[in-house]
Amino acid sequence: MSAMRATLFLILFLCPSLLLALPTALPAPGGVAILDLGPSQDAPRAEFDGERVAVVRTENSWRAVVGLPLSLEPGDQRIEVTWPDGRRSRHGFTVLHRDYAESRITIREERMISPGPDDLKRIEADRVRIRAALATWSDATPDFDFAVPSEGRFSSGFGLRRFINDQPRNPHSGLDIAAPVGTPIHAPAPGRVILTGDFFYAGKAVMLDHGHGLLSFYAHLDSIGVEEGQRLERGARLGTMGMTGRVTGPHLHWGVYLNRTPVDPELFFTRP
Ligand SMILES: [Zn+2]
Repeated sequence: MSAMRATLFLILFLCPSLLLALPTALPAPGGVAILDLGPSQDAPRAEFDGERVAVVRTENSWRAVVGLPLSLEPGDQRIEVTWPDGRRSRHGFTVLHRDYAESRITIREERMISPGPDDLKRIEADRVRIRAALATWSDATPDFDFAVPSEGRFSSGFGLRRFINDQPRNPHSGLDIAAPVGTPIHAPAPGRVILTGDFFYAGKAVMLDHGHGLLSFYAHLDSIGVEEGQRLERGARLGTMGMTGRVTGPHLHWGVYLNRTPVDPELFFTRP
């Protein structure tokens, strides 16, 4: 082993925290704020708007990685931090303005626009299950360096202000990737399967927990190849692309969540 390789090995071996990649910081609605909390032996606990947020060690400091809701107004915000010795601190940051484009689509299937009473019951049951999964917290250190989960064209960006048949709807909570039915979908980082199911709007879907409230969601699948509780390595196949649920064509809806808030998946990978 050359001296340089030996040195590199020692650095990587002794300081694994140096290797931890963080998402791209974008302190704006639908983005991610990264706050330097300072050093401490053990991890502090941080909350934003009453929700626990991811805290990871990089170099010699703890950093909070905070998901910012699309509905957040630009201006001053802060997180509350509790240290292992009981001390508390507040860390402020400024939320910037970010523009999101409009998207107008037409859905002809009447049932997807005005669901009947049985559909409404199912939609409510779906919402309860998905909300419970979104509340998942695990202590695994998250890997924020995602791989794009499937091949295909980015057909619809995160945060689009959507109108369906000219009616305003919730903004787009994920990134759509379009490719033929059957295109494989892979885990973008190590994670645990916390939800699988067939939902009214999302169709066949999978949710992964990557640790510290970092979750990812895969909707409109043709087939699901994993089970709840299963641990996946980066690149493991979790299913195939389809057109189940409310869709206008085959695509993957990919959602990424931090502190139960959908954030822009494009902040978690480098565009090819
Ligand atoms: Zn989508």
